[in-house]
Amino acid sequence: MEPWQLIIITFVTTLLTVWLYQFLFHPESLSSRFKKQCFKILRKLPFVGAQIQKQLNKAVDDMIDSMLSLKDGMSYVKVLPAKGLEQAKVLEKVKEYSSMGEVQWDNGKVSGAVYSGEERLTELFVKVYRQFAWSNPLHVDIFPGIRKMEAEVVRMACTLFNGGPESCGSMTSGGTESILMACKAYRDLAFENGIKHPEILAPISVHAAFEKAAHYFRMKLVHIPVDKKTMQVDVKAMARAISKNTAMLVCSAPQFPHGIIDPIEDVAKLAVKYKIPFHVDACLGGFLIVFMKKAGFPLQPFDFGVKGVTSISADTHKYGYAPKGSSVILYSDKTYRHYQFFVTPDWQGGIYASPTIAGSRAGGIIAACWATMMHIGEDGYVKATKKIIETARFIESELRKTKDILVLGKPQVSVVAIGSDSFDIFRLSNSLSAKGWNLNSLQFPSSIHICVTLQHIKPGIATQFVKDVRESVAEIMKDPGAKTTGMGAIYGMAQSISDRSMVTEVSQAFLDYLYNTDDVSGNKHLNGSPIPH
Ligand SMILES: *Cc1c(COP(=O)(O)O)cnc(C)c1O
Repeated sequence: MEPWQLIIITFVTTLLTVWLYQFLFHPESLSSRFKKQCFKILRKLPFVGAQIQKQLNKAVDDMIDSMLSLKDGMSYVKVLPAKGLEQAKVLEKVKEYSSMGEVQWDNGKVSGAVYSGEERLTELFVKVYRQFAWSNPLHVDIFPGIRKMEAEVVRMACTLFNGGPESCGSMTSGGTESILMACKAYRDLAFENGIKHPEILAPISVHAAFEKAAHYFRMKLVHIPVDKKTMQVDVKAMARAISKNTAMLVCSAPQFPHGIIDPIEDVAKLAVKYKIPFHVDACLGGFLIVFMKKAGFPLQPFDFGVKGVTSISADTHKYGYAPKGSSVILYSDKTYRHYQFFVTPDWQGGIYASPTIAGSRAGGIIAACWATMMHIGEDGYVKATKKIIETARFIESELRKTKDILVLGKPQVSVVAIGSDSFDIFRLSNSLSAKGWNLNSLQFPSSIHICVTLQHIKPGIATQFVKDVRESVAEIMKDPGAKTTGMGAIYGMAQSISDRSMVTEVSQAFLDYLYNTDDVSGNKHLNGSPIPH
């Protein structure tokens, strides 16, 4: 061959090899990419595409009509009032907004959402918020009290989770931010260790916030299957998934869908063996599980006492009973927290250092959280925990006695999830909705759950729930094969659509509509492609 031929052939072969490598070793599987491409083509076909679009528009319409329509006579504010309103007038208007909801969250029929709602506690934290309404922990020199309060909330939480003298953490705006921070910290640690494509290994049941973290921080989330019976993560599968790219392992204590605590001690052994950071997501139940032993419901170890656990997220704004907008992320050692921080020494506005995602933060929320924890105290939390766990255990045992439904796994904390082998479980959620209950719908597998809060410990609520479930099931079992209608049907349908991008599209249209201020309904349709090209 001629020299120039050799050069060209080598060049082309190298390019092809690189292309082939990138094509085959893409983060997304070949089959998934192939499927997406097929659906994309399908959507472009003249008649079929239009039909699909029509169906999607209808799905969006139905969802919005059932959830977000304004009542007759109401309208949107679109411009600033030319002349500011008197305070009394503003308060009068505010009343209009606060009474808009039709769901009564304080009647004990809503799952999760409001974890306390107690009137005297509200009074306390609103008073405290008032005193710190203008404060911002970004300015420690001006608001030293807020710095002290945040440090104390973090320390109290570290102590609850058995943290050693090196344990530390930060307050964040909520569970999602706490999780984002842990993932960001371990990603940067992985980068430093030479890992180019850091991976999060987490149970399939883990909270969506980990998917969000992977998305934001360009990490790969590897979902590990759970045992179909116990709903706990399959530790052997987790061990098999560990590779040189693994940046962190995750377990939940408990997870959101079925309220199950993963086998933390077993996963911790893997973390120690392979020297991988290990995050325990206790966002939901963190402020229950730390009190369960004293409340008479001992659990297997889940905290920093387990060798290998390097971080824990726990939401003060859930069972900590603090107002929304507060959570903690805790680490076993300060070296991990350093990877969470952000510092830019060269900004024109000055050396800028901030611990979490936000710049300015609401000092009032930190103060309100501090006040809540100080007021409730260990005795208050133990008492609340005892009542909540007793109620959840009562519901669990009664539901287990109910024919034709089943409880998923062995829930140990506050969430009880139910499914059925005899009928479509979303018919039960429809039927319970008609009886005033507001439960959570879950998918893969279809199930529903109740998350027990202080709203459900009032006398009669739990027994009413069990009674309503039994009546509904008996009614459904008269015709177990009947068609599911309403919201239940939407949930069922959403799971069965194989083109997941459609579900995403409908959800994006829904999010768009959250910001709708058009009085005429009719502008809620999707317009083909969600992103203009
Ligand atoms: C609620 C929850 C989160 C996230 O919390 P947000 O406060 O909603 O951001 C994370 N993990 C679990 C298990 C949760 O239940």
